[in-house]
This record gives sequence, structure tokens and C-alpha cells, in this order.
Amino acid sequence: ASEKEAAIAAVRSDGPTIFDKIINRQIPSTVVFEDDKVLAFRDIAPQAPTHIVIIPKVKDGLTGLNKAEERHCEILGHLLYVTKLIAKQEGLDDGFRVVINDGPNGCQSVFHLHLHLIGGRQMNWPPG
Ligand code: ADP
Repeated sequence: ASEKEAAIAAVRSDGPTIFDKIINRQIPSTVVFEDDKVLAFRDIAPQAPTHIVIIPKVKDGLTGLNKAEERHCEILGHLLYVTKLIAKQEGLDDGFRVVINDGPNGCQSVFHLHLHLIGGRQMNWPPG
């Protein structure tokens, strides 16, 4: 299958991803923030001096933002709030960017909802 077909198939499946292994500490990561609901760790392929991935510990069907239901509103809000706390913790006082890639057109590659917190340099707009 083409890369795009594989991505579409992955969006439809709700199986475990590499992020489950990070949550379970089966593979190492550099955790920068954790509470009972979320985990945040440094991206393995950073796109800026600071690049952190923030995820819900329980996926609950959220392969991506496109699967959000009303019951997810609390975790969605919490993810954004902890992103602000982490930005502060990381010293991103001059600003930062928060990104959610969704689906093939969004270039999503891991099908467990996650926010990217990116900072430490001037960002450009529009994104690529
Ligand atoms: P993209 O790969 O296009 O950025 P996503 O928005 O799905 O798509 O982002 C997944 C992110 O997870 C990527 O930035 C990738 O570098 C990161 N990532 C994948 N595996 C790991 C890992 N083991 N540890 C930390 N970050 C990871």
C-alpha cells in the first residue's frame, strides 16, 4: 500500500501505537511533565530547540482530533492547559506554537491524539 493508504488504514484502526509503549515505559523517552491524565516527553525528531509531545494516557478512541466526542472535552481542555504549564516550565516566554496534525492531509503519523509544543526559535506562517 502507498504511504497515504497506510495512513488512512491506520486512522481507521484504533490499535496500540508507539505512544502506548512510551506510557508503559517499554521504550525510553525524556518525560518533561506527567500527571494522572497526561504525559509529555521530548520529540525524538525535534523541529525546533524545544519540541515536546503531549498525550492523554488513556486514548479512549482518540486516534486523532477528528474522533473527538463531547465526552472528551475535559481531557482536551486539560491537554491545552498543561501545554501552557510546560511552555512556562521550558522558559518559552517569547511565545511558542501548538500543533495537532490530523489525518493524511495533516501529516499525522501516530494515531494516538497528541499535541506538539514547539518553541525556542521564530516560527513562520504559513506552515509547510
Ligand atoms: P509527524 O510524524 O508528521 O510529525 P505526528 O503529528 O503524528 O506526525 O507526530 C508524531 C510525532 O511523534 C513526531 O514528531 C515524531 O518525531 C514523534 N515520535 C515518534 N516516535 C517517538 C518516540 N519514540 N519518542 C519521541 N517522539 C516520537
